[in-house]
Amino acid sequence: MMRPRILIIYTGGTIGMIEDMHTHVLRPFDFSHLMENVPKVKMLEYEIDNIQFDPPIDSSDMEPRHWEKIARAIADNHDTYDGFVVLHGTDTMAYTASALSFMLENIYKPVIITGSQLPIGEVRTDGEENLITALQIAAAKDNTGHPMVQEVAILFEDYLWRGNRATKRSADNFNAFRSNNYPELARIGLGIQFNRDALRRKPAPAALKPRYNMDNNVLSVDLFPGLSPAYLEHIFSTPGLKGVVMRSYGAGNGPSSDRFLDCIRNAVRRGLVILNVTQCPGGSVDPGRYMTGDSLAGAGVIPGYDITFEAAVTKMMFLFGMGLSQEQVKKFLSASLAGEMTVLRRESSRAETMPDPNTSNL
Ligand code: ASP
Repeated sequence: MMRPRILIIYTGGTIGMIEDMHTHVLRPFDFSHLMENVPKVKMLEYEIDNIQFDPPIDSSDMEPRHWEKIARAIADNHDTYDGFVVLHGTDTMAYTASALSFMLENIYKPVIITGSQLPIGEVRTDGEENLITALQIAAAKDNTGHPMVQEVAILFEDYLWRGNRATKRSADNFNAFRSNNYPELARIGLGIQFNRDALRRKPAPAALKPRYNMDNNVLSVDLFPGLSPAYLEHIFSTPGLKGVVMRSYGAGNGPSSDRFLDCIRNAVRRGLVILNVTQCPGGSVDPGRYMTGDSLAGAGVIPGYDITFEAAVTKMMFLFGMGLSQEQVKKFLSASLAGEMTVLRRESSRAETMPDPNTSNL
């Protein structure tokens, strides 16, 4: 039996932090400190290599260039390893997971992102268990010898979530992540119970197609009663701005005043792409349910259905990063590219088709 080969990519985050002796605040520390605190890893008898960020960072400092670094580390080592474990801070973990799910087209091997709420050196740390379980999932095969997990996922405490469906839900609970609109990929208890119906399966491995360009000319706007259309107009006229994720009410509703809708219509006419996601933690944008949602769709806003905010922002960056036109970006925002959303209306679904500017799938 070949021993599983796993590559750990250590980016930083609480898991590897230590307390500064003078200020008592937590700061990222190096990988050897982390591994010294988890001697049990040796009991797995895996071949483990590592790549580390120098210096390791708090995930609040993550930027698209760091996603590129992680994606390149995975793509460059893809054929050598059975799976990848990315150690990452929890604050922006869901953004990184979403970004990687788009950047690593055709990924067929497990990319398991984890971290912890307490540093690995603390007595009650959750880091040890998270790291060991992430390694086991990265090495897991199904009974035909194929990787059990063929996608980017977040492992945290009791659950494995699809990366682009997960969201950080608590700043201090050990179960820090949740997916409101998609079931868990696995439940961690005495054993690891995989949820085969929820796992992404591909008929056969295809060549990995990494794409590294992310265009950050996007921003987000939250609707609230009393939001001045004048401010909206100002935001929508920001030079260079290409896309806006608009967090609307309930099933994707917004004000029905002409002033508000004109502001949206004008922005869309000028070429801005506006994606409608709901402020509700769970549920979906359904533009056909209320007149107020229908008017937004009529004004040119694209329904984001049940996509998370993290996936919405990174998907926009990814599509603009490919240099697609406004119409092309709109088309792919309406489809699921990497299992990130459930499209409600059949006619707009082109599920699981990654954009390719060189072919006709636009
Ligand atoms: N601020 C930390 C980070 O995201 C929090 C954590 O890791 O839990 O890097």
